[in-house]
Amino acid sequence: MLQESVGKLKGIGPKRASVLAQEVGIETIEDLFYFRPRRYLDRSSIKSISDCFVNEAVTVIGTVRNTRVAGRSRRFMEVTVDDGTDTITGIFFGGVQYFQRLFNEGDQVCFSGKISFYKTKQMVHPDFDFFDAASNTSSISAINTGRIVPLYRSSESLGAAGFDSRGFRRIIRQAIDLCADSIIEPLEPSLLIRHNLMGLRDALVSIHFPESIDMVESARRRIAFNELFFLQFYLTLSRRAASEEAGIRTITTETGIFESVVRRLPFSLTEDQRKAIEEVRGDMCSPVPMNRMLQGDVGSGKTVVALLAVCIAMGRGHQAALMAPTEILASQHYATAREILGGDVPIAILTGSTDADERNRVYRGLAEGSIGLVVGTHALIQGGVEFRNLGLIIIDEQHRFGVVQRAALRDKGSFSDLLVMTATPIPRSLSLTIYGDLDLSVIRQKPANRIPVKTMSFPESRLPGVYRSIDRYIDQGRQIYYVLPLIEESERVDLKSAKEVYGRMTSEIFPKRRIALLHGRMKQEEKDRIMEGFTGGTTDILVTTTVIEVGIDVANAAVIVIEHAERFGLSQLHQLRGRVGRGSHQSFCVLIYPDDIQEDARRRIDILVANDDGFIIAEEDLKIRGAGEFLGVRQHGRESGFEFADLGRDYDLIVSAREEAAAAAFNGDAEEMLRGMESGSSALKGMRMKRILSLLT
Ligand code: ADP
Ligand code: MG
Repeated sequence: MLQESVGKLKGIGPKRASVLAQEVGIETIEDLFYFRPRRYLDRSSIKSISDCFVNEAVTVIGTVRNTRVAGRSRRFMEVTVDDGTDTITGIFFGGVQYFQRLFNEGDQVCFSGKISFYKTKQMVHPDFDFFDAASNTSSISAINTGRIVPLYRSSESLGAAGFDSRGFRRIIRQAIDLCADSIIEPLEPSLLIRHNLMGLRDALVSIHFPESIDMVESARRRIAFNELFFLQFYLTLSRRAASEEAGIRTITTETGIFESVVRRLPFSLTEDQRKAIEEVRGDMCSPVPMNRMLQGDVGSGKTVVALLAVCIAMGRGHQAALMAPTEILASQHYATAREILGGDVPIAILTGSTDADERNRVYRGLAEGSIGLVVGTHALIQGGVEFRNLGLIIIDEQHRFGVVQRAALRDKGSFSDLLVMTATPIPRSLSLTIYGDLDLSVIRQKPANRIPVKTMSFPESRLPGVYRSIDRYIDQGRQIYYVLPLIEESERVDLKSAKEVYGRMTSEIFPKRRIALLHGRMKQEEKDRIMEGFTGGTTDILVTTTVIEVGIDVANAAVIVIEHAERFGLSQLHQLRGRVGRGSHQSFCVLIYPDDIQEDARRRIDILVANDDGFIIAEEDLKIRGAGEFLGVRQHGRESGFEFADLGRDYDLIVSAREEAAAAAFNGDAEEMLRGMESGSSALKGMRMKRILSLLT
């Protein structure tokens, strides 16, 4: 029953069903249960309009007396509601026609929002809901009024198909009446008791129709526990299955290459780098394939660690592959690898723009084993690539690759070791969940010779002063990154673009300076040429976008200016800041924001000005933006693949789910349990495999 299409419900035909599927990804009745309310209205206490004060957040119910379109250039809709004690006017901007259709005189509506006053009591963009006073005793009105009621996501097409909050309540109530009893409890009763969790059925009912606000939170925790538990369970099982399959490997290692490369390094390794290399070596020499994530702030020196891991692989007679998210970064790694590994390792590069002849040559070299290390982009995981004896896979900036891509690459070598590197420090809660299959090495120290970057922030009106400083630094021989949020001007948003600023800089602001434009929509050769110009010091200012975010290493670039800093995530800004401070000069990061910036956006920027530690910034970022944004995954408008778990807040839940999952996963045959999970059958019915796996892609 739960797996039946929502079309089985009364009042839902194929057309409405397809709106649900398209807009919010709801296909089955079970999906409806897991459709999480956006928030709740406490309608158990409703105020008389005459008792409302300005600035108070209240819920009122009344009859629509009057609707009209007002305003000249910016039109808005006024909806006046009367509850017998007084009237209040709801103001709605945007989509005037939509609101005009929605509100009609005589409608019974509920407004919830903050009271303001302009000639009369107002609510600007109140939350609203319609209800039918006449049928106050029917089950429909009982789910809309006089209790805590759920509000669901809405959109124009959902609304047009009758799926406003009221419409959702109606079908969800129907689903509950029809099939709540077929919800199977997937967890052991003792486990529920241990962690003080309610049953899944009760949780799924209460999340929609709670008896109290506290109950919403208990229900959420229960469902969140499911998500966390089964993700962990799956990860632990796959890991167990992989290691059981791996068997015994030879552990003889020839250390000649490793030692000669270390000896040639122009610097001595930091303590953290040494420790990371030893952890990697330990994994590589154990019979179980390495599954390790190397975390370290920008500039902490992860690349050297990776290249030394390559030396260890070579010493064991294995090939290695290093995969980067962009071509710019792949080229740079290629150059660094050639410099550091010198003649000891035959190295090739393979990207989307490698020409056919060269590509075939590389394919041959990899298949024969004459190439020891191949550096590249996604091209590495494409069809034609065969390795003779791939032993080590390194993925740089791994948060851009999903688990599925990781797995595809891993398939290239039978029992390859995997090292993923990330410069976005991953908060502990995330490394325990999304990256729960990986061991962790952390580089916290920066190389000793680093001078910390000075970070400053200014409103846009101070730009002339910033330009004067830029001029001064160029006079001193430094180079500048100048970052904008857009490539080209856009009709939709009022933001400066790289092309526009490049145009103004070359013609008006810095006509005498050597300025280049770099963005992601250029051809590869052009990008390479421009990067070479900047690296070679023949460009003073590089006007660009976030293409330079990852990995780029130009020691002489000492200033980075970022306009519209309010538009970037904290971790992203921190990444961008990491482009400077790589040489022997004092470096600066200048964040520019609009003069009329909102208070909270301003506070975000201050976090960056005050903090240099990527780990602290990542935790703040996670709290502010949620896990989905943080990881760059977004589906059906959901915050993250997790519907109910909040990775910023549920740390205790994550830890207990992980422990329980580990215990459960070692309690039986891993392969069999995995197959059971993947087919959605067996002991794990009721678990939402589809959604959990979607997290990993
Ligand atoms: P990231 O962790 O951001 O990838 P990189 O590996 O690119 O950092 O290192 C940044 C710079 O620091 C490189 O130029 C590298 O040669 C240098 N570096 C790495 N390790 C050390 C060290 N122990 N001492 C001094 N410089 C180092
Ligand atoms: Mg790097």
